[in-house]
Amino acid sequence: MKKPYILAIDDDVSVLRAVERDLKAKFASGYRILAIDSPNKALDAVRQLTSRGDRVALFLVDQRMPSMSGTEFLHESISLQPEARRVLLTAYADSTAAIDAINKVRLNHYLMKPWEPPEQHLYPVLADQLEDWRAGDREAFEGVYIVGTRWAPDTHRLKDFLAKSQVPYRWLEPEGLSDPRAKAALGERPVAMPAVILPDGSVLERPGLAEVAERLGLVSTPSRRFYDVIVVGAGPAGLACALYCSTEGLKTVLVEREAAGGQAGLSSRIENYLGFPSGLSGADLARRGVAQVRRFGTEVLAPAEAVALSAEGEYRVVKLSNGQELAAHSVVIAAGVQWRRLGVPGMERLAGAGIYYGAAITESSSCKGEDVYIVGGANSAGQAAVHFSEVARSVTMIVRGESLSKSMSHYLVERIQTIPNISVIPNAEVVEVNGGDRLEEITIRHHAAKTEEKRPAAALFVFIGAEPHTDWLEGVVRRDAKGFLLTGANLLSAGKRPEGWRLERDPYLLETSVPGVFAVGDVRDTAIRRVANSVGEGSIVLYFIRQYMRNR
Ligand SMILES: Cc1cc2nc3c(=O)[nH]c(=O)nc-3n(C[C@H](O)[C@H](O)[C@H](O)COP(=O)(O)OP(=O)(O)OC[C@H]3O[C@@H](n4cnc5c(N)ncnc54)[C@H](O)[C@@H]3O)c2cc1C
Repeated sequence: MKKPYILAIDDDVSVLRAVERDLKAKFASGYRILAIDSPNKALDAVRQLTSRGDRVALFLVDQRMPSMSGTEFLHESISLQPEARRVLLTAYADSTAAIDAINKVRLNHYLMKPWEPPEQHLYPVLADQLEDWRAGDREAFEGVYIVGTRWAPDTHRLKDFLAKSQVPYRWLEPEGLSDPRAKAALGERPVAMPAVILPDGSVLERPGLAEVAERLGLVSTPSRRFYDVIVVGAGPAGLACALYCSTEGLKTVLVEREAAGGQAGLSSRIENYLGFPSGLSGADLARRGVAQVRRFGTEVLAPAEAVALSAEGEYRVVKLSNGQELAAHSVVIAAGVQWRRLGVPGMERLAGAGIYYGAAITESSSCKGEDVYIVGGANSAGQAAVHFSEVARSVTMIVRGESLSKSMSHYLVERIQTIPNISVIPNAEVVEVNGGDRLEEITIRHHAAKTEEKRPAAALFVFIGAEPHTDWLEGVVRRDAKGFLLTGANLLSAGKRPEGWRLERDPYLLETSVPGVFAVGDVRDTAIRRVANSVGEGSIVLYFIRQYMRNR
C-alpha cells in the first residue's frame, strides 16, 4: 500500500525547512513528507496527488501567508482531501484566527510557533492526529469486505457494527463486482447476501453480528467468573467507570451489547466536551476510551448483552445472552438510551432500507449527491445535518417545534444557518413513508397550513429522542414509568426507603434500589444527557462502590 502524505506549507523557507526536518525525523517511516513554500503551489500539488489516488493524512499549514492564509488554504483543500487532519501553525497573535478556523474549516488542532523541543510540543499532537486519521482510514483495511446491496437492512447492520467496532472494511455492491480479491473469494457459486469476506478469504454468508465478531477476534471470553465490578454498557459513562475502577486496582469487566462508544460513538463531532476545543468525533472518543480502559486492565466483552441481574447474598450476578454468568461485589448499569422509533405507516418495513435511526456516520458516504431528510430538532439531529451537508446535495430537517432554537444548542443553530444546503421545515412531521424494497417517498404534514405534502426521498434519518432499554431489570431494580432507573434520594418516598431495602442507611447517590448495584449516565431518571455528565457520573461512582464494599 502506498504511504500517505504529510504536507507542510509555510512561506518562510527557514521555518519550512525546520518543520520538514522535524517531520522527517519522526514520521518518515510511515508517511511521505512534502514541504512546500507557497499555498498556491501546495494546492496544485494536492490536486495532483488527489488525481493520482494518493491520500494526504495531515496538513500542517502556516496561518500567516501573504497570498493565501492557512485557513483559506485548508478551505480550498477540504473537498480534495476531506479526511486529512488539519493543523494550523500560528504565532501567538494569530490564535483568534485559529479559533475561527475551527468552525470554518473544521480545524483539528492549532500549534503555536516555535514548537521546540518537538518531542514535547510537536510530536505528541501530530502523532495523536495521525492515529485518529489511521483509525478512520478505510484504505488501511485488512481485507474485510462487506458485499451487499445498499438497501438491504442486513448490509446496514453489518456496516454499522464494523464501523462502531472500528474495524476498517470495504463495502461493495454485489452488482458488477470488480474487486479481484472479493471476486476470487466469492467464486462462481451462489452466495447468500450480504456476505462478509474475512482477511483469510473465507466467506460468511448472511452472518449474525456475534459470528462476525467472533471470527474477527472481537469477543474476548471472560478470564474469570468473579470480578470486583461488572459494568454494563460501554458508552462514555461505562468507559469512565471502568477506567476509574481499574486504575484503582478493582478487577473490572465491561459488558457491551454492540460496540464500545454508545450513543457518543454516533456523534460526528462533539464540541462541548472540555479539553477538545476543535471538537472530536464520537468514534475517536470511543477508540481512545477503550484503549485507555484496556491499558489499565479492564476486560472488554463486546458484543455481549446483559439479559438478567440478580442479587445472591453478597454477590451480584449478571447473566449474558449467551447463557454465561458473571458475578461481582458490585454492578454498575451504564446502559444509556436508544432511539425512539417513529411509529408511522411504512417505517418498520423500510428500517435499514433508506430509513435509519442515528447512523449518520455509517451511511454518510452512501448519500453523496442525494437529498437527505432528517427528523428531529435536537443537537444530535443538528450535528447529523452539518455532517451530511458536506456530502449530500441537500439536507432538509423536519422539526415539530416552531424553530430549532427551542431544542438545539445555540452554537449549532448558528452553524446551520450559515450552511446553504441545509433547510429547516418547522411545525411539521413525517406521517407516512412509502417505497418498494427501499424508501422512495415521504409524506410531510405541515401543521400551521394544515396540509400534507409528498416528496421523493432516498434517505430519512430519525433523531427523535430516546428511551432506556431496561426491561431486563424489571422486578429487580426500581424504574420510573418510562423505564429510567431511580437512584439515591429519588428512591425515597416521603423520606421512606424503597420496599425491600434492608440496610440501615439510605441508598448512596448513584445507587439503585438494590444495594451494590449502581446506575450512571443517560439510563438514570434525572441524568443530564450529555457526554460530560455521563463521564462525570461514571468517574465518581467509584467513590460509592468503595463505601458500599467497606460498609457491607
Ligand atoms: C448523534 C448524537 C450526537 C450527540 N452529540 C453530543 C454532543 O455533542 N455533546 C454531548 O455532550 N452529548 C451528545 N450526545 C449525547 C451523548 O452521546 C449521551 O449523553 C452519552 O453518550 C450518554 O452516555 P451513556 O454512557 O450514559 O450511554 P450511551 O452512550 O447510550 O451508552 C450505553 C451503552 O450501553 C450499551 N447497552 C445497553 N444495554 C445493554 C445491555 N443490556 N448489555 C450490554 N450493553 C448494553 C449500549 O449498546 C451502549 O453502547 C449525542 C448523542 C447522539 C446520539
